[in-house]
Amino acid sequence: MEKIAIIGAGVSGLSVAHFLKDKYEVIVFEKEDRPGGLIKCVRVCGNLFHTCGGHIFNSKRKDVLEWFWTKFSRENEFTKAERNSVVFTDDGKKIPYPIENHMYLFEEDVQKQFIADLVDMAKKEEVEPANFEEFLRNRFGETLYKIYFQPYNEKVWRRDLKNVPMSWLEGKLPMPTVAEMIFNNINHVKEKEFVHATFWYEKMNGSQYIADRLAEELNIQYDSEVASIKKSGDKWIVCDQEFDKVVFCGNIKEMIKIIKGVDIDEYFDKVCALEYHGTTSVFCEIDSNPYSWIYQPDRCHESHRIICTGNFADSNNKDLPEGRITATIEFTDAISKEDIIDNLTRVPLRPKYLDHKYNKYTYPIQDANTRDMIKKLKRLLASDNFYFTGRFADWEYYNMDVAIGAAMDLCKNI
Ligand SMILES: Cc1cc2nc3c(=O)[nH]c(=O)nc-3n(C[C@H](O)[C@H](O)[C@H](O)COP(=O)(O)OP(=O)(O)OC[C@H]3O[C@@H](n4cnc5c(N)ncnc54)[C@H](O)[C@@H]3O)c2cc1C
Repeated sequence: MEKIAIIGAGVSGLSVAHFLKDKYEVIVFEKEDRPGGLIKCVRVCGNLFHTCGGHIFNSKRKDVLEWFWTKFSRENEFTKAERNSVVFTDDGKKIPYPIENHMYLFEEDVQKQFIADLVDMAKKEEVEPANFEEFLRNRFGETLYKIYFQPYNEKVWRRDLKNVPMSWLEGKLPMPTVAEMIFNNINHVKEKEFVHATFWYEKMNGSQYIADRLAEELNIQYDSEVASIKKSGDKWIVCDQEFDKVVFCGNIKEMIKIIKGVDIDEYFDKVCALEYHGTTSVFCEIDSNPYSWIYQPDRCHESHRIICTGNFADSNNKDLPEGRITATIEFTDAISKEDIIDNLTRVPLRPKYLDHKYNKYTYPIQDANTRDMIKKLKRLLASDNFYFTGRFADWEYYNMDVAIGAAMDLCKNI
């Protein structure tokens, strides 16, 4: 049997290992002491802390769902929930998500401005937006841009929205037409079309449960940071062991530096220049509420989103005072503990700090050339039996299910 090395035991590496384990002798190398990557969770005083985000699961892909549910009991190990997201505006309103479907909840003058925007937009010919700011203004109108899309997205992106490229958007954001927005407001249409409008969540241990289960049947070497992947003849050397093939599921910026023995020099600068954001996830106790996600455009603090993970499973909360649940409050990039505590005094629902974790790589940023460049590098390396897939290997805004789907597609050709 041929030997294959998989680098990284996040969702991508774990999936690849499952798809290939009957065909190859598989060894997974993971630098941390347990599986999960971005979906890792820890317990803080018995409460479950998603150290990045607040991962929930669903998929549009039938083949991904079918495979996933061969590994888990949907009925016994997961609960199904409906997304109940809301925007907290700076004047204290709670507007259901997506905000553009619920303009009837604003005061009369805001409604009138929004209607004037819609009339204006309907008269204009559709033009290809050059950047994110143009896209938001053209698509939703000036009033909604100013109330929500601008302040919220400036917090998320931490840059002028003119400097946010359009390429990452594909398939990520709703693209309602003027007619759809009018229809949705008249009929009070709730968010239904998103992949995660309904979702599955683990009864115990959050997304760590997925990682732990997927890791069970695999040969994983933990605490093994791969610092060199060297081509030697027709073999690859990884951690002093010889392999026929390699699948890299870590970060392409690291990958480009540690591969030796193949000529990929022309890609070095392009990969090193790839941009990204990190996230500081702050674990808190907050007031009980019925929401799953709370979006926060309010400029009086720097956090953009609260994920009410305490509402996803009872087992996520332990020994909290009556009327309190756990949640993750997100800040883009690194923020000091002192600044976190200061910001929390202005975040709604009376958050009390419990813990925090900064993840350096959370959101890949693409430009117009990124996909093409990565596709070419993939093709080049595949001819040497070296493959890569994953959120930061492909530099794609993958959710877990999309990462599994990408792994599935790749493995059909290995
Ligand atoms: C804030 C946030 C919220 C999200 N929420 C959701 C959600 O609700 N639902 C959803 O489906 N998806 C969500 N996602 C997306 C999801 O996190 C990713 O799709 C998924 O975790 C990507 O897995 P991965 O294996 O590709 O990468 P990673 O999770 O980054 O895994 C890479 C692994 O490789 C290891 N590694 C790297 N380099 C080396 C090396 N040299 N040697 C050994 N090991 C190495 C790392 O330690 C890590 O374990 C969210 C993402 C973010 C950032």
